[in-house]
Amino acid sequence: MTLRHKTLLIIGLIFAALVLLLSVLTRTLLLNSFDELQTQDTHANLQRALNSLAREVEAFESSTNDYAVWDDTLDFVQNGTPTYIEENLSSSTFASFQINYIVFANPDGQVVFSQGISDESEIPVPPDVLAYISQTPLLYQFASVDDRVSGFIVLPENVAIIASAPIRTSANTEPIGGALIWIRLLDTAEIARLAERTQLSIDLHAMNDAQLPSDFPNAIANLNNNPTFIQPLADNRSAGYTLLNDIEGNPSLILRVDTPRSIFQQGQQSTLFFVVVLVILGVAAVAAALILVERLVLARLAKFSSDVQRISQAGLSERVSVAGDDELAAVEAEVNKLLAKIETAQEELRAAKDAAEQSNRAKSIFLANMSHELRTPLNAIMGFLTIILMNAKLDSKDEYRAQRAYANSERLLNTINDILDISRIEAGRLQIVPMPISVRDTVESVRSQMEVLAEEKSLPIEAQVTENVPSMIETDGDALTKIITNLLSNGIKFTETGSVKLLVDSVDNRLIIKVTDTGIGIAPHMYDLIFESFRQVDESTTRPYGGIGLGLAIVQNLCKAMQGNVRVESELGRGSTFTVTLPFAQVKEIA
Ligand code: ADP
Repeated sequence: MTLRHKTLLIIGLIFAALVLLLSVLTRTLLLNSFDELQTQDTHANLQRALNSLAREVEAFESSTNDYAVWDDTLDFVQNGTPTYIEENLSSSTFASFQINYIVFANPDGQVVFSQGISDESEIPVPPDVLAYISQTPLLYQFASVDDRVSGFIVLPENVAIIASAPIRTSANTEPIGGALIWIRLLDTAEIARLAERTQLSIDLHAMNDAQLPSDFPNAIANLNNNPTFIQPLADNRSAGYTLLNDIEGNPSLILRVDTPRSIFQQGQQSTLFFVVVLVILGVAAVAAALILVERLVLARLAKFSSDVQRISQAGLSERVSVAGDDELAAVEAEVNKLLAKIETAQEELRAAKDAAEQSNRAKSIFLANMSHELRTPLNAIMGFLTIILMNAKLDSKDEYRAQRAYANSERLLNTINDILDISRIEAGRLQIVPMPISVRDTVESVRSQMEVLAEEKSLPIEAQVTENVPSMIETDGDALTKIITNLLSNGIKFTETGSVKLLVDSVDNRLIIKVTDTGIGIAPHMYDLIFESFRQVDESTTRPYGGIGLGLAIVQNLCKAMQGNVRVESELGRGSTFTVTLPFAQVKEIA
């Protein structure tokens, strides 16, 4: 993932998490507060409705009492004044006090007179209302002239306000002639009138009403423990409930006041507005942050990266472009300084390498010339020694001396040849000249040369060329001879007992040459070093084995020049196997 995508992802995720957190917090904190405010408002409205109802009851009771504390009324219940009803209980009286039923009862609860009104026409008071009154002594048994009873009652059809006052003299003295009872039914019209006066939506029901609206049962259940209960009604209204006692002190009515949930809805809208504004501001902030990060960091990092790529392709002479004076610019400047240092170091290295190569070439030329100068007289010496050994009549002592002189000259010649070879290789003058040769002949010739050496140590040499090897192949015969000779002579040199074996096989146009001995072996950490020029496992001056450390270097260079390779496997004290792999070309049969 690119830095740009990572930055975008991280900033985006942080922003989303923040918005989510703030939204949740807003909803829980703000909406809860608005909900609380809404509850308080509903509560206040419920209280207003209760106050209003209480005033209604109070006024109704006061009006009832006005009629009860009157000599005419006392006279009517005691003596049945015939004109009383006609003069005092007209339909306008009923209307102005909003009375539905009037009942005059004597102190024993017997109804002396009763009258109801409905739609401005007189009706009898329903028998169950009269029965209720006579069964409720509270309504007509007064302890004193100042006793009153008022409040709510539950009638079979309706709930109602009832007021009862003792009938007595206008001077508010005994005797108590009975009770004047007024009843105002709280029917739908009356509730609507109350609602209009209080500007509240009011509903009043008997608790045992069989047709209670569906939200009431839950409210009644909650009102068992609390004086009031508030709950949302549908989505947009909040309802407050409370129980009302009847005149006997039993909770028999339930009042509901419902008001629009405007505070809560306003809260919801404000919260939504807040979240939307938050999201817009957040998106703007993220965009601004991204633009800034892009301009100040990402774009410059991308430029820096492309500069570095350009330098790695075009070379160290190129430089990173430096812009501004901030930390990134400091890094760019430092990179340029570093590049300059590397460039200088590289030039110095190149100069040192050129010098080293030049002196190495001089060394090689010197070695080649020296070897040549040494070989010419040495060849003459060996030639004369051969003639002496062949012709002269030497005694056995001199013959032995001449033979030693010849053998040492031959060793010297081999060493000089090795030096000449390696200096040719290092001077880049090694040339591989492939031509058709017989591997079997080459192997046989080397084997017979080496046999002399091996016989001195009584070591058997085995040489085998498998049938896979074609009779003639195309390769450099001299190089092949040198490779096998060097490996075999090392095998013989570093082996005291056991044997030295040479196996030549061929797989897929590649010669596989294995030289295995049972000699002293080589420690694994020396595997690479022994192929370097003049490197030997034992580099002490007192080492028991001859040689100057060039044989394996020549083998490896020849193998490389022929597109092949050489590797060693060995175990200290048990012997070594050198394996050479050399690709060769098939000799084309001439038809
Ligand atoms: P030289 O034989 O002249 O020392 P070489 O390059 O042929 O040089 O070999 C380098 C060194 O590798 C030897 O000095 C010897 O320590 C080790 N070496 C080479 N061949 C063998 C072998 N067959 N067994 C054990 N050691 C070997």
